[in-house]
Amino acid sequence: MKMELDLIQEMIKQVLEEIKEEGVEVSSKEEYGYGVFDSMVEAIDASEKAQKELFECSVQQRDKFVDAIRAEILKKENLEMISYDAVEETKIGRVEDKIIKNRVAAENTPGTEDLKTRAITGEDGLTIEEYCPFGVIGSITPTTNPTETLINNSISMIAGGNTVVFSPHPRAKKVSIKLVKMMNKALEEAGAPRNLITMVKEPSIENSKIMMESPKVRLLVATGGPAIVKQVLSAGKKAIGAGAGNPPVVVDETADIEKAAKDIVSGASFDNNVPCIAEKEVFAVESVVDQLIYYMKKNGAYEITSPEVLEQLDKAVSKENGKPNPSLVGKSAKELLALVGINVDDDIKLVIARTNKDHHLVTEEMLMPILPIVSVSDVDTAIDWAYEAEAGNRHTAIMHSKNVDKLTKMAKKLEATIFVKNAPSYAGIGVGGEGHTTFTIAGPTGEGITSAKSFCRIRRCVMSEALSIR
Ligand code: NAD
Repeated sequence: MKMELDLIQEMIKQVLEEIKEEGVEVSSKEEYGYGVFDSMVEAIDASEKAQKELFECSVQQRDKFVDAIRAEILKKENLEMISYDAVEETKIGRVEDKIIKNRVAAENTPGTEDLKTRAITGEDGLTIEEYCPFGVIGSITPTTNPTETLINNSISMIAGGNTVVFSPHPRAKKVSIKLVKMMNKALEEAGAPRNLITMVKEPSIENSKIMMESPKVRLLVATGGPAIVKQVLSAGKKAIGAGAGNPPVVVDETADIEKAAKDIVSGASFDNNVPCIAEKEVFAVESVVDQLIYYMKKNGAYEITSPEVLEQLDKAVSKENGKPNPSLVGKSAKELLALVGINVDDDIKLVIARTNKDHHLVTEEMLMPILPIVSVSDVDTAIDWAYEAEAGNRHTAIMHSKNVDKLTKMAKKLEATIFVKNAPSYAGIGVGGEGHTTFTIAGPTGEGITSAKSFCRIRRCVMSEALSIR
């Protein structure tokens, strides 16, 4: 045994020597390398050093760096590997949908072009206001979008001149480590400072606390449920909170019902309903509800018609306190139906059932492909009930209608950060809809569809009595 240990130690020494000879600096503290550290303090210190170096780089260099992240992620083998690993480790979602989400995060997250300078000129001279880095950002990320949030945040934050210390969900530890290393390696190869992205090898609530309390971390970003958003907002420093939603869908009698049905199934089944923007309950006017359900079933929905079976399923997927059972979050419709003895083919993507408006599945964000459908007498009531179900999150809402007045009414009433009309919910994050992609939708703190400028400070630079050339 002792001999084996000696042999292994000798081999490690040799490998480290070889790496040294190839010119790569090796720190004993950074045994995991490429941004992954033993302790949170080391991860923060390395991030602070890296940020100072990044601040010396030009904006064009920053663009080159974020392009290196994009190119690395978009390699087919990497895209497939991180998508597969995320599902394998978290047991949440669908690989094919994770591939789409990771791809749009890499392709459609804005870079430095997002940082538009404002100039004010006049008799008194020239003043400019520019988006400048905060410094080190601490970002807490969810288990439901583990890799896409890391990619999206890294691009936005580095484009803004910041470095980022991630605190991923412990259930997504391995894939986060792999991705952080992958991105840092690509960054270093593109000539970027080392450790622009860091994390600890054992993410935990204790480590997040160290991060939140560190004076070196200038801005906190939390993407997750209400508990973590509240935590960062109580940390005594600038924080961006991207919290939970419970997006309602309203369908009125003017909608293209066949298309609405298809869009709702696509949105609500996407990544097994875990996106915070995904359709979570439907309010359809009674004159079209049968037709809507008919077409939803033609597009991969399975309807539970027995109230007893629905209650059985609801009980099976919920904890005693009504919250979703974490081990069933993001499972497929097929797996969920099997819990109540219903066997279906893989082409069934969504479970639907008629319920009343106060049903637990309507009021609770379940993050599972089970979609309650509530029949409503008229569109005005549907909008009121959608408002109730959204519960003041002001996150995302969807409506299928051709009536501009009612669409406007819904938009004004719900005040959602994202309001999608006549499309699946994911059109709201740039998949089949215009606009950039984010996986940090900051409703509570108001930054909205975050991008590089959301993670910057606005600084004013004044030249008095000169440089106004008009
Ligand atoms: P979660 O709140 O359980 O976890 C999110 C992160 O916070 C994880 O890293 C977790 O480890 C950490 N965390 C949770 N409580 C903490 C505490 N008390 N102290 C320190 N760290 C803590 O959420 P989840 O299950 O990973 O993700 C799903 C939730 O996130 C849903 O509610 C969904 O709507 C929301 N979400 C929102 C957005 C958005 O952009 N607004 C995006 C994705 C997910």
